[in-house]
Amino acid sequence: MSDQSRKISSLRKRINEIDAELLRLLAERREVSLDVVRAKDVDESPIRDFQREEDLLVKRIRAGRELGLDAHYVTRIFHEIIDDSVRLQQEHVLRDANKQDAEPELIRVAFQGIEGAYSHLAAKKFFSKFGDRLRFLGLQSFEEVVKAVEEGRAEFAMLPIENTTSGGINEVYDLLLHTRLSIVGEEKYHVQHCLVAADDVPLASLREVYSHPQAVAQCSKFLATLAGCKVEYFTDTAMSVSKIKEDGDPTQAAIASEEAAKMFGLKVLRREIANQKENYTRFLVAARNPEVVPTRIPCKTSLVMATSQEPGSLVKSLVVFEKNGINLSKLESRPILGNPWEEMFYVDFEGNVAEDAVKRTLEELTRTTRFIKVLGSYRSQDLPRTTPSPRAISTEFPDAPAAGPAEDRSAPRPAAAESEPFRLTGRAHKPDDTVIEVRGVKIGGPEFVVIAGPCAVESREQIMACARRVKEHGAQVLRGGCFRPPSSPYSFSGLGHQGLDLLVEAGAAYGLPVVTEVVAPEDVAEVARKADILQIGQRNMQNFALLREVGRLHRPVLLKRGQMASIDEWLEAAQYVLEQGNHQVILCERGIRTLETSQRDTIDFNAIAALRRRTHLPVLLDPSHAAGDRDLVPPLALAARPVGAQGVMLEIHPDPERAVGDGRHALRFAQFDELMRALRR
Ligand code: PEP
Ligand code: MN
Repeated sequence: MSDQSRKISSLRKRINEIDAELLRLLAERREVSLDVVRAKDVDESPIRDFQREEDLLVKRIRAGRELGLDAHYVTRIFHEIIDDSVRLQQEHVLRDANKQDAEPELIRVAFQGIEGAYSHLAAKKFFSKFGDRLRFLGLQSFEEVVKAVEEGRAEFAMLPIENTTSGGINEVYDLLLHTRLSIVGEEKYHVQHCLVAADDVPLASLREVYSHPQAVAQCSKFLATLAGCKVEYFTDTAMSVSKIKEDGDPTQAAIASEEAAKMFGLKVLRREIANQKENYTRFLVAARNPEVVPTRIPCKTSLVMATSQEPGSLVKSLVVFEKNGINLSKLESRPILGNPWEEMFYVDFEGNVAEDAVKRTLEELTRTTRFIKVLGSYRSQDLPRTTPSPRAISTEFPDAPAAGPAEDRSAPRPAAAESEPFRLTGRAHKPDDTVIEVRGVKIGGPEFVVIAGPCAVESREQIMACARRVKEHGAQVLRGGCFRPPSSPYSFSGLGHQGLDLLVEAGAAYGLPVVTEVVAPEDVAEVARKADILQIGQRNMQNFALLREVGRLHRPVLLKRGQMASIDEWLEAAQYVLEQGNHQVILCERGIRTLETSQRDTIDFNAIAALRRRTHLPVLLDPSHAAGDRDLVPPLALAARPVGAQGVMLEIHPDPERAVGDGRHALRFAQFDELMRALRR
């Protein structure tokens, strides 16, 4: 060995020793930083102290300068060290707040695609703290990913929600609306696309490029330079790499991550081929249970809302955030499937559902929205960094005092003024009448609304005949039972989904919105896809599992009063739906049991008048079921409006004697015609 190489190897040895020492010190620093947060646990003091961080940085910069290290270098290194320390402390606090009796041994993360896809890489990064306990479950579609977590086959779902170049991922937004999962985290992943091939070939020889449509869109400018090259879409970037590996064709290439190329042993032909160098995809992490985020940690909340149909309600909703000092970081709109030209808004904001300002905001939003669902509060990934002013680190002012006290962003916000009892149904909460609009029909407004149709959908002819009469005589909504509540083990249970299709067909043929009853929680989502209003029958008024399902959706709910329910119990059931986020509840009085037994039921007219004072929700009357006799229906229906009902629901039938149920009180078409004329007078 020459002198020179001996010298180099001894220097290298020294560098190795220094690096080992640096690593040991970094690890020791971490331990001390954990001890600091443990000490802070006692009084729950904030994790971050920006003033202290800035002072520390200034001291390090000055000390570094004395050792010949420039300020920029020292700042960069200490920013990394401080970020790591803050993350570590936050994780400690989060773990403490979400302690489980039995931590799962394996942490299974579901994602769309195969290993090497960006979702997989982002999940590896986000969950790195779990080390060997981590397992991945690559699935075909986002829907399967969500389902895997809902059904307990994985603990977490990794879902891409937006990309800084190509925008929002619609499919994931639409899934979030319906899922029961909560968002518990976010990962902003730096996506660095490469052009990958089986061999080191010149770009000019490529004929086909495979990738995911999003990746193709993000690299459109580079792709335009590959003359004579065809682009083919693939379900994910890693799968396109796997495909060209299998084919082994040197004229094929894929757009994917460098990691995916390495995993499959392929060559990277070009790096950084995205239109934007700063190309990030934001992923949401979802789990079955919401995470408790202590208010000491900077937090973000995501929600989805549909604003009321009154003009200006979006602006009014946004003002609620502003008024409560809440900073929106995102507002995205998506069409409501099944309601053309209506929009659902996805909102991200800085704040935590555990904070008073956020609680106040959510309560106030119930007045300007018809549907709202909080998707979750989760630790924000953005770590604000302190940057000392040039004056503070200048050697010319060695003792310059640091600028005034830094803003303490993690300090608890001022306590909210105690709000009145949280009674979403009450006039105190919302003085103005709630008007619910379905296909242009306004329920709860000045116009008296008539809903009519058969007790049950029996056949196409029957429901078509009814729909025609409903339209001809100027009623606005078509009713028809498809899923019937069992009144006895032998009663007709309805035509089910087949009946619903007939009802929807009849409604569409005559331009009428339709209402139908749901009786089982598992049917709600499917019925809501087709029907305009979901009816909860009197027997199910306190079926809270069912109320929870309709409360989670954005379809208006017609809630009948239970035969044995008090007004308070009825309003509580409505409150339950509103609490879930669906603010569109129509109350329908249909008669209660009293000591009077010669009538089927007794209409509680008092309740209608009283409710109009107590609640902002629309109130209707169903005189048919109480009357139990078709000849009593017209006078009772005519009494509805004077006591304050905003509409009636009537049963009609082309041939009541042949009806499968409730034939005795079904109006004949001629009677219905006459009643409609009388109602118009
Ligand atoms: C109905 O309207 O179809 C019905 C079954 O009514 P209720 O729930 O009021 O008995
Ligand atoms: Mn009936």
